[in-house]
Amino acid sequence: NPKTTKSKPGEAKGPTAKALQAAFKAQRDAFDAAPYPSWEVRKARLETLRDVLRKYEDDIKQTISDDFGHRSKVDTDLGDIIMAYNDIHNALKMTPKWMKRRKRATSLSYKPGWNEIIPQPMGVIGIVVPWNYPLGLATGPIIGAIGAGNRCMVKMSEYTPKFSALFKSMMEEAFEPDVVYVATGGVDVATAFTNLPFDHMLFTGSTNVGKIVAKAAAENLVPCTLELGGKSPVLIDDSAKLDLTVARIAQSKLLNAGQTCIAPDYVLMPKARIDAFSDAMINQAEAMYPKFAGNDDYTSVIADSHYARLQTLLEDAENKGAKIRVAGNDDKQQLAKERRIPLTVVTETTPDMKIMQEEIFGPLLPIVPSETLEDQCTAVKSKDRPLALYWFGEDDAKRDRVLYETHAGGVTINDCAWHFGQEDIGFGGIGPSGMGAYHGEAGFETFSHMKGVFHQSTGGLFHTLKQKMMADMMPPYT
Ligand code: NAD
Repeated sequence: NPKTTKSKPGEAKGPTAKALQAAFKAQRDAFDAAPYPSWEVRKARLETLRDVLRKYEDDIKQTISDDFGHRSKVDTDLGDIIMAYNDIHNALKMTPKWMKRRKRATSLSYKPGWNEIIPQPMGVIGIVVPWNYPLGLATGPIIGAIGAGNRCMVKMSEYTPKFSALFKSMMEEAFEPDVVYVATGGVDVATAFTNLPFDHMLFTGSTNVGKIVAKAAAENLVPCTLELGGKSPVLIDDSAKLDLTVARIAQSKLLNAGQTCIAPDYVLMPKARIDAFSDAMINQAEAMYPKFAGNDDYTSVIADSHYARLQTLLEDAENKGAKIRVAGNDDKQQLAKERRIPLTVVTETTPDMKIMQEEIFGPLLPIVPSETLEDQCTAVKSKDRPLALYWFGEDDAKRDRVLYETHAGGVTINDCAWHFGQEDIGFGGIGPSGMGAYHGEAGFETFSHMKGVFHQSTGGLFHTLKQKMMADMMPPYT
């Protein structure tokens, strides 16, 4: 059992740098002793993961809820548990196909030699997990890593100490530490963790910490997948069906109280429709959550610091002339006590407001008037390339212009966030919202060395002809 150091917040304990190095060495030695796990071994690991999740489902929901103050159990089902089962199900179905050696074309001058790509396990994968979906964002990369035949070390978030402790003990029950190792703890542990010479590292978290992690990875030339954040815009076209649009934005904005990396961050739409849209958003939120305080379906903001940050965004917007509408009529003190924030629609926004500059990560929804497709694309392009983009409308030509003229990590059309759940499209950011991708085959390839192999010929008629041609390439050159 590794020695521990104390760190904040939550006074989460974690291993020392020395203990982490020892765990890494144990994983690397075990990998070197068995560098190509068969499908049977990988399958057994994936099934073990599924079984331990099943066994502890109730505890998972309870500990995450304890860490948040309150976390809706259905939010945990939707955002964490079902995602994990789907990922495992898909990996169990598809990995034998993904593991296959892949023949590649060979040009005439190299025949009868031939080419192939061999997906090879990389070794030890480092995975850093944020607090917002602490199970799903741990299991997603773990599934990709072990499906591709690797071992992995996982650093949990200090903001979810109860769940992190549970997850650590679950993984200890299910796996030898040289297969899956979990570290809890704060920034000191995270720093030591990200300094390890992993064979690949996948970090999920904020753009600022992503930069620190990328620098640490660069020191050891560790290839790095960065799953970061940003302001994901919603573009509403004149042709959009308002009822559908409102219901779908409200659902994904209020899941986990907006604490979702791909939550719709702000809305761009024609001015004439903003009032009707705001009314409908408020009505929709109130229909979904008749009360926000004390409502088991509605999740709290994770920590006082984040609650204060969201209040500051609102105060700043109000001071600069924004109009603010809060759904429901809950008692404000009670809401504050529970760290619950109802859907809050912010109109008459201006670019100098912090709410239009920082990733919101909460249930505040600013709306920006934007008349034409050109205006909307220009507005998107004036900001950092986002993790996700959402377009609502019925005009396919306009849809395609948005798809080709703007950049975003991923897109859902006529809904929000669901591209994350698709098994056969990779998920990742672009520019400041991240680099690289995982999920499904994209994840398998991220965690594999796709090794190119050229097999030179050694015999046969065509080979003999080629040998004659090749002779000219051998010194002495004549
Ligand atoms: P964070 O960046 O504060 O922390 C993420 C992890 O990094 C934690 O485990 C933390 O311990 C670790 N960490 C903190 N400081 C570190 C350091 N100096 N060196 C190394 N590691 C360090 O992020 P968060 O607040 O937990 O999560 C919210 C952010 O994550 C948001 O920006 C959100 O958009 C983003 N996010 C992205 C995705 C995605 O898939 N792209 C998913 C969820 C969240």
